[in-house]
Amino acid sequence: MTSRKTSPVHVTRPLLPPLEEFIPYLEQIWESKWLTNNGPFHEQFERALCDYLGVKYISLFANGTLALVTALQALRVTGEVITTPYSFVATAHSLLWNGIKPVFVDIDPNTLNLDPGKIEAAITPQTTAIMPVHCYGRPCDVMRIQEIADNYRLKVIYDSAHAFGVQFQGESVLNHGDLSVLSFHATKVFNTFEGGAIVCQDAKTKRHIDHLKNFGFVDEVTVVASGINGKMSEINAAFGMLQLKGIDEALLQRRAIDSRYRAGLAGVGGIECLGTGCEEMTNHAYFPIMVRPDYPLSRDVLYQTLRDNGIYARRYFYPLISDFPMYRGMPSAAHSNLPVARKASEQVICLPIYPGLANEQVDFVIGLIAGCRRSKVDAMPCVRRSASTAAAPSR
Ligand SMILES: *Cc1c(COP(=O)(O)O)cnc(C)c1O
Repeated sequence: MTSRKTSPVHVTRPLLPPLEEFIPYLEQIWESKWLTNNGPFHEQFERALCDYLGVKYISLFANGTLALVTALQALRVTGEVITTPYSFVATAHSLLWNGIKPVFVDIDPNTLNLDPGKIEAAITPQTTAIMPVHCYGRPCDVMRIQEIADNYRLKVIYDSAHAFGVQFQGESVLNHGDLSVLSFHATKVFNTFEGGAIVCQDAKTKRHIDHLKNFGFVDEVTVVASGINGKMSEINAAFGMLQLKGIDEALLQRRAIDSRYRAGLAGVGGIECLGTGCEEMTNHAYFPIMVRPDYPLSRDVLYQTLRDNGIYARRYFYPLISDFPMYRGMPSAAHSNLPVARKASEQVICLPIYPGLANEQVDFVIGLIAGCRRSKVDAMPCVRRSASTAAAPSR
């Protein structure tokens, strides 16, 4: 195994265009002095995104979390909402911000998305909606989820924070459900520094959402709801216009890195690359591997070994949302209710993947993971080092 150190490699690195290309956009904003509140770039960016993504209506937001909170308000969701524990904490937090009780349902072991087979058992008279997540950009079982929603008259709001540009059966996956919510945070496939959006299916709903993100104002003197300030500024919208020019190339680069990892890790016993056989169904926002029990190191020892070698992979999603203090007392958060999610959160590591990640860096990561497997037999330095860090207090 090579012990060559590289400069730190993080799980992601934001897509950024050359700075000089952004200057003309800034000049236009300075010229117009229109900084926010539905300015020209905001309008352009909404149209451009609808075209690029293949959706009908989009409302831009300052971030994905405000978009989730507003999506629930727009559909007047109350009571209980069925959701996944295997996600970023904002998914469930958006429910608490609306005084809604999250009900956690376990995930499918193959896709790590909400398991449709387990949804019905969690429905009560208080249930009004389902909030699934297209985890790692892989589509949920949208057909079965819609069937259940129709049978029980439930709304469906997809947390699509990972699903920018993902297609399902020839069209945007964002067209499923009543609403789909995107995040354009710096760590996502497509970023506007901070940003988010709600995708909806009709003009009336978009109008309502646009009121809600602007304090509830419908005109100068009329406020119809206790809306919030969720607006995206002109700077972020202008930046989004520029980012759209580079997104196709960025997605291609992600795909190539995904293939390289899969080829390199294919023969490594105990390491399973998620989504093998359906690589085309995602935007390669993440590259999750499962560290199975037949790999010689535990997930956490491998995670630490990667860190010791400058590879800052992440354990998305560990801990489960249902393990955080504000959720763990809920009946649906019980360990016995979520065995698949728990196992996934104990085995997953997301490896670095981003446009600009060099082949030799990918190979270095593969070499470390494969080398640790071999070194179990050969007693190479990797295991000695990782054994000592495993005994040290965690950072
Ligand atoms: C990033 C993310 C969010 C939150 O989006 P922000 O734009 O950071 O507020 C919500 N849900 C999931 C699944 C995410 O990954």
